[in-house]
Amino acid sequence: MRRALITGISGQDGSYLAEYLLDLGYEVWGLVRREPETSRWLEKIVHRIEFVYGDLRDEESLKVAFQKAWPDEVYNLAAQVFVPTSWECPAETFDINVGGFARLLQIVERQKPDTRVYQASTSEMFGNVGAICSERTPFSPTSPYGTSKMAAHRLAAVYRNRGLFVLGGILFNHESPRRGPEMVTRKITRAAARWVLGDRTKLKLGNLQSRRDWGFAGDYVKAMHAMLQHDTPKDYVIGTGVSHSVQDFLRQVLIEVKKVCHEEDVPRTIEEWVEVDSQFLRTGEIHDLRADSSAAQKDLGWQPKVDFPQLVEMMVEADLASVREALGTKAVS
Ligand code: GDP
Repeated sequence: MRRALITGISGQDGSYLAEYLLDLGYEVWGLVRREPETSRWLEKIVHRIEFVYGDLRDEESLKVAFQKAWPDEVYNLAAQVFVPTSWECPAETFDINVGGFARLLQIVERQKPDTRVYQASTSEMFGNVGAICSERTPFSPTSPYGTSKMAAHRLAAVYRNRGLFVLGGILFNHESPRRGPEMVTRKITRAAARWVLGDRTKLKLGNLQSRRDWGFAGDYVKAMHAMLQHDTPKDYVIGTGVSHSVQDFLRQVLIEVKKVCHEEDVPRTIEEWVEVDSQFLRTGEIHDLRADSSAAQKDLGWQPKVDFPQLVEMMVEADLASVREALGTKAVS
């Protein structure tokens, strides 16, 4: 039975990946900082996972966790991922995102160099290229977060040149009902659910014109696994190839909400519902990101299954259900 160690297992990507690897017959180990039972997303599979305690900032804890898990594959998904936080805490962002990965790589090289390592790289490394991005597009990050991920990505290449099987999956934005509530998509779908169920507080957002290539996290974890099964370690870009603006996302949310809720409970316009608040505008804003994942399609046979309307529908439905549950109400048909 193949053994996989996932850092960041309690987050969106970690939980989808754990489910996928369990289905494939893996023995799944999860690195956690606190009680795994506290993660809602792991509820259904918590009894099938082996947990080890550790923190990417603490080398000793990583060594012990690695020795216990003794993995064939490591998926390094734990990170400080929120761009605004990376401006508040740039050094901590680097310590986790770069230092943590460096600690892991050293442990792998010294203890079990045949372990295959997946590093969660990101489209934020590209910055404002103003064009569709492939593996050949130069990096030009605009935030401490993007810079930290670029450094880790380069570190992966350096260790690869020394013989480790390590690669970076350059994933574009990927969302789901499990997305962190601070990210724009989830912030919007949660607010829509609250509005429909009676809370008429205006939703405060930043730049509504910025565009992202939003895909479904459940599709993207399959690409992570496929990359580690390939004969040679290679970085891949993963995305849908289509970008939408935050405004488009808002519009699609209204369409989806209207399908399942009474008309009088749905905001009539975006203006009635949303207000631009300068505190959410960003320095170093990236205006548009779009992926060319033709290499992943060709080499790995990977393709996204869930499109933009389906993604929005899934998120709206899940947030309506959870807000309803929280309110203990059946106000919506
Ligand atoms: P990112 O691409 O990793 O930074 O993912 P986010 O979901 O945090 O942001 C996506 C885009 O939405 C960025 O261009 C943000 O500037 C924009 N955006 C607009 N308003 C908001 C907001 O209120 N919160 C967040 N998180 N992003 C916002």
